[in-house]
Amino acid sequence: MLKELEYKAISLGFDCFGITKPNLSESVRNNLSIFVSAKMHGDMQWIEDKIDFRNNPRMLWPEVNSVIVLGINYFYGQDPLYELTNKRNGYISSYSRGLDYHDVIKKKLKLFTEWSYKKYGGKYKIFVDTAPVMEKPIAVEAGLGWQGKHTNLISKQLGNWFFLASIFTNLSVQDKKNRKIKDHCGSCTSCINICPTNAIIEPYKLDANKCISYLTIEYKQHIPVKYRTKIGNRIYGCDDCLAVCPWNKFAKIANESNFFPLFDLTKRDLRELLYLDDHNFRELFRKTSIKRIGRDRFIRNVLVAIGNSGDVDVIKDVEFFILDKSPLVRAMAIWAIFQVSDKKYFKLLRNQYIKHEKDLWVLSEWFRSYE
Ligand code: SF4
Repeated sequence: MLKELEYKAISLGFDCFGITKPNLSESVRNNLSIFVSAKMHGDMQWIEDKIDFRNNPRMLWPEVNSVIVLGINYFYGQDPLYELTNKRNGYISSYSRGLDYHDVIKKKLKLFTEWSYKKYGGKYKIFVDTAPVMEKPIAVEAGLGWQGKHTNLISKQLGNWFFLASIFTNLSVQDKKNRKIKDHCGSCTSCINICPTNAIIEPYKLDANKCISYLTIEYKQHIPVKYRTKIGNRIYGCDDCLAVCPWNKFAKIANESNFFPLFDLTKRDLRELLYLDDHNFRELFRKTSIKRIGRDRFIRNVLVAIGNSGDVDVIKDVEFFILDKSPLVRAMAIWAIFQVSDKKYFKLLRNQYIKHEKDLWVLSEWFRSYE
């Protein structure tokens, strides 16, 4: 049965397969408690609220007896570190340039469970990053790879570029071989060294508050000043710690073409992105996972990147956003102008626009450390 399940998964386009019991070790549970009590999850309240579910898959579904873990490659030959050098283009994380992975993977999981139900009966629940499931430690138990010092999963066959999904079933399927892979990071610290914000505070420990992926995707507030210049031209996520990992030498081009960029998201001019209104934002990104952050947060990120571009020609465009309806956008427009413009000109604009501003945070952007 195990082999047949694996063959089916591979025939549906998954690249790796494993199966394990729905148990998490004490050290995994402790690490999660430390992570949450130290507030390293930032504003992701859903992590804190569902900590018991994360720690115990049986709380999520009491009938679960086995967890099938699947990995799927999304590498299409991208070189994130090279793309970051073009400051006038916005950098979008590799995983989000194709069709929304939730949709692509869910379809495959449904086909898998329909087939398995017909053949073996049983009940199933499918998860792709959508429920309080500790996918990475479970994948380690199932033998898909190890959690590197950057805390992401690394596969000896795929490197760093793959998605994880899991299927809970009440069937008892056991893999008698222990496929758990030992840690192969060795003395390497490349991911720790490259992180622009030092978010990997020690090997295997990530402070999400500092992580550019968190700041540009999950974080709903004004991006703290101390991280803005470090964000560079990253407007949605960051791939640095994955891209630098030497295990990527084993990465192969993905078979699943739905993860390839839908349109050229490797070369998006910042000025062009700046003018996306709600409708055009939704239209441009409707098939991707980028849509979930909404136009205001996206434009906030674009403005941070413009502030880091050194492109003085874009100031006139940015001025238009000083009166935007969103305080997130107005605040970052002010910051971006301050970054790229002459200080006399900045003060001129401040005198002109400040009377229109009522939001305290945005007002503080006009004054913070600019005197
Ligand atoms: S970059 Fe080095 S330390 Fe970081 S995850 Fe990869 S192998 Fe491990």
